[in-house]
Amino acid sequence: MAKTPLGQEFYDYISTGRLVPDWLMLRLLKEKMVNEKRGIVFDGFPRTHEQVEALDAWLASRSGFLNGVIFMNMPDAEAAARVKGRSVCTRCGMTYDTGIDVSGQVFQCGTCSGALARREDDQPEILKKRIMVYGDQTEPLLSYYRGNGVLLDINAKQPKRDVTIQIAMALKSVV
Ligand SMILES: [Zn+2]
Repeated sequence: MAKTPLGQEFYDYISTGRLVPDWLMLRLLKEKMVNEKRGIVFDGFPRTHEQVEALDAWLASRSGFLNGVIFMNMPDAEAAARVKGRSVCTRCGMTYDTGIDVSGQVFQCGTCSGALARREDDQPEILKKRIMVYGDQTEPLLSYYRGNGVLLDINAKQPKRDVTIQIAMALKSVV
């Protein structure tokens, strides 16, 4: 995605821990997905009411529809605790989900030997803000999708393997 000016702008936002604005998400959607015919999985989109409206309009213009919306259901405190054990390589960008808190310690990336650090947007203060923004803007969308009968409520507190199985079964039920 970084090859286009829009893609570069997208990376500028996420690499500095900022939320990607609606207008940019939607322009990327139109630019990248215009020729997609087989189906698309979005990760972390839509996050706002404006994005939902734009996605609905875009789908309608293509006679498309949403098969399902996967909701990774997990209490905020649990999500915050898990984030502490997530790190990213400062050189190659590889993400590690080891459960080890790397802050204040020296760990090396297994791929490139770069230093591991907590992701910028996983820092405690930014995380607190992200959880607030989520409650404010994203959580209200759940009732919309639940009302449309497309919400797939996944218990994300389970071990990873069980979460994967539950997602696979939920997807199978809608495609
Ligand atoms: Zn690395």
